[in-house]
Amino acid sequence: MDTPSLPYAHDALEPHISEKTLSFHFDKHHMGYYGKLVAAAEGSEWATASLEDIMTSGPASMFNNAAQTWNHTFYWNSMSPNGGGAPSGDLAAAIDAAFGSLEAFKEQFNAAAGGQFGSGWAWLVKDADGHLSITTTGNAGCPLTEGVTPILTCDVWEHAYYLDYQNARPAYLAAWWNVVNWDFASANFA
Ligand code: MN
Repeated sequence: MDTPSLPYAHDALEPHISEKTLSFHFDKHHMGYYGKLVAAAEGSEWATASLEDIMTSGPASMFNNAAQTWNHTFYWNSMSPNGGGAPSGDLAAAIDAAFGSLEAFKEQFNAAAGGQFGSGWAWLVKDADGHLSITTTGNAGCPLTEGVTPILTCDVWEHAYYLDYQNARPAYLAAWWNVVNWDFASANFA
């Protein structure tokens, strides 16, 4: 398991996600999960295992910190200072095929992300047949363990948005589309 890194500066997603939010979210939350995982795995056969192996085959006591470490790295990469706009190519065609249009996809994703009760994640995933769907997971849940391929994720834990948007999760979701990394999503879809 590699030490997590933030793939851009703490202030790179402003004004949509503030430097303060990214500082707490990466430095405290993400690195906190990672630190607890390292401490739990130290001296065991899992100390050198991949996050994916710990998530799928490791002790249940390590799952939450391993999955939260994996999920956050996937979330940082789901966003980019040069993000937003629209997908292109095969991913754009697959979104149209699955949801009717990009706007319809966004509406359904927002409804799922906004409707996730309590802490969790909203995901765009691809099944074995290449079909796209939207799913949500509670707490540390990750679709990797359900045999589908994550394409994109949005963190809907309150720590992801409360400093910037307080209780207004829909306002955070609206802002989030401005930083969505479609290049990352396309690479995951390919
Ligand atoms: Mn988070």
